Amino acid sequence: MSTSVLVINCGSSSIKYALVSERREDRIFGLAENLGSADARIKGVTTGGEALELSIPHADHEKALETILERLSHHNPQAIGHRVVHGGTLTKAELLTPEIIERIREATPLAPLHNPAHLVGIDATMRLFPELPQVAVFDTAFHQTMPSHAYRYALPKFLYTHHNVRRYGFHGTSHAYVSERGSMLAGSFKQGGWLTAHLGNGSSTCAIWNGQSVDTSMGLTPLEGVVMGTRSGDVDPSIHSFLASNLGWDIYKIDKMLNSQSGLLGLSDLSNDMRTLIEASEQGNEDAALAIEVFCYRLAKSLAGLSCGLPRIDGLFFTGGIGENSAYIREKTVSYLPHFGFNLSKDLNNNLKRGTEGRIDHGTGPQIWVVPTDEEGRIAKETEHVVDEVKAAVKKSDADAAIA
Ligand code: AMP
Repeated sequence: MSTSVLVINCGSSSIKYALVSERREDRIFGLAENLGSADARIKGVTTGGEALELSIPHADHEKALETILERLSHHNPQAIGHRVVHGGTLTKAELLTPEIIERIREATPLAPLHNPAHLVGIDATMRLFPELPQVAVFDTAFHQTMPSHAYRYALPKFLYTHHNVRRYGFHGTSHAYVSERGSMLAGSFKQGGWLTAHLGNGSSTCAIWNGQSVDTSMGLTPLEGVVMGTRSGDVDPSIHSFLASNLGWDIYKIDKMLNSQSGLLGLSDLSNDMRTLIEASEQGNEDAALAIEVFCYRLAKSLAGLSCGLPRIDGLFFTGGIGENSAYIREKTVSYLPHFGFNLSKDLNNNLKRGTEGRIDHGTGPQIWVVPTDEEGRIAKETEHVVDEVKAAVKKSDADAAIA
């Protein structure tokens, strides 16, 4: 493998990693899971494509990262790129310095499940590999171009000015990658108006004008927006007082219900997994069929709403586990958007090979594409970019000092 970037995504008890080569075609990737328990292990794939499974009983994040790096060190990673869900108002990827780490810490109340886990990973890699440049790439950064009428809530102003209560948006690396790649495939790189639908266990939509996010479905937290695997998406905010008054639920119970017991799982009372629901619905399960219908209808409604942010619509990109793999969901969603002139080709849609990119409309009206996302590749690219910028700045200041 040529020079490479190690991409790390730390969760509370797991670490996803990928070693991405400069040309981005070679990948070594894996997952350390059940960290802190007797069952802690690393599962992955080597460059040769062989499966790797390694037991690391009771390993914490630091031990797991040490083991991962030991196995990868002969590939000589040049930098580490950390996925960080919430960057607050940071607008781009940043070299990890004490100041940036503090900004990530300050954004913790806005992503209480994610940012603390990222900080554990950052802390461990900084101690283990002090010589490697490390960069934070934020899910929120791509959406920092949203205008204020898209990111402000209709709430008292002081909540925004004093407490940063606003819409941030998430899945930014995916929306950025997919819209860039898709617009390039369409022959209008970073030009025009595009809608993206990132549909996985977490789902969100985005409106992009000339390469910049102008609106997105997720808000202050990744709960707002479309129906997800276990997250409700939009609900009437009065649900909190209704459940508190009528069922005596406290805020934690309501939050847990909205985040972990709702969405496809809540509607179907069966599963958060779209594949399972499609199979169940084919066998006559009405709750599964309704969950799918609500998912597609709400998704179409979100896309139609976001279209207000675009002067014109050139097309729609589907991505994520569901968006890339389910022709059925794509067709059903587009069928709920009859006013936009989309002309989906059933043949192209049904025959698109799983995991591949391709155009699936008849060639009249706005385009429809499937574009597999590549968040790791995007994080690696942004990491390289930041490292190159820093090197160039150091070189310039050395040259200036020599002249002086
Ligand atoms: P992700 O979070 O992007 O990995 O996506 C996970 C979701 O993609 C799950 O709901 C899966 O059921 C769904 N998925 C993966 N393959 C398919 C498929 N062939 N048809 C429908 N849903 C799929």
